[in-house]
Amino acid sequence: MTSANPNIDQRQRFSFDNTDIRGEIALLENSYQAVLERHDYPALIANAIGELMAATALLSSNLKFAGRITLQVRLPGNVSLLQAESNEQGELRAIARYDDQANRRELALDDGQLAITIEPENGQRYQGITAIQGGDIAQALTDYFEQSEQLGSRFWLFCNGQRAAGFMLQKLPSSDNNDPDAWDRLTHLASTIKADELLSLSHRDMLHRLYHEELVRTYPHSALSFHCTCSKDRTGNALHQLGYDELNDMLNETGSISITCEFCQQEYRFLRDDVEALFPERHPH
Ligand SMILES: [Zn+2]
Repeated sequence: MTSANPNIDQRQRFSFDNTDIRGEIALLENSYQAVLERHDYPALIANAIGELMAATALLSSNLKFAGRITLQVRLPGNVSLLQAESNEQGELRAIARYDDQANRRELALDDGQLAITIEPENGQRYQGITAIQGGDIAQALTDYFEQSEQLGSRFWLFCNGQRAAGFMLQKLPSSDNNDPDAWDRLTHLASTIKADELLSLSHRDMLHRLYHEELVRTYPHSALSFHCTCSKDRTGNALHQLGYDELNDMLNETGSISITCEFCQQEYRFLRDDVEALFPERHPH
């Protein structure tokens, strides 16, 4: 079922001439599989993570600066957290938190929250949170944009365990609209997307299948990949916050401190010299 597709791990922007509507299409395979290789997620969670990664890939195209967007689905039940992140270059990572009792058949999003956080490398962090009213992740995103951004947005997200795919339409706040029926017409057409189409067709074929009677303008593709932002330096900074005495106690017990990144499973080991180096003020020349 995985045929050659030129748009694997790519996203593409498109817009419709004479309207204030634009869209984004994304297809993930290697970037998604890189997450699954690092975690033994049950199928239900693996699929939800795929949908969330696809959504994050779509939204990260809106980042106009160096920084990061994080999507979190926070739930009250046995699956407590689904999280996916991307920087402006489409470098993605994701994680799920759940317990052994996680229901393997159905993931109910009712009573959950969707949080979207935007963190520019330089500038103010922004976070919006909305209650999830049930439905799926695509519906939760649509509700989020309606409530917190007052921006008409619709999402279609699919995952089959091998690939994840996303499709987004957004109505820009603009007066330049000569086609008042466009939003209804274009979203109605997008609602005919089938999972196997979005997961298998090239972006060009998908857009042609939906919009061959519309004036679609496409923009250059950009790459999507898996990348974890962890490093020994960042891990050291986190350890530093525990304080010297606490770290010293840990070293006395075990001889070294090992920290494993929960996103990528990379292990960082700190020996006594490494810990001392975190506190240069203790070693004046
Ligand atoms: Zn990592």
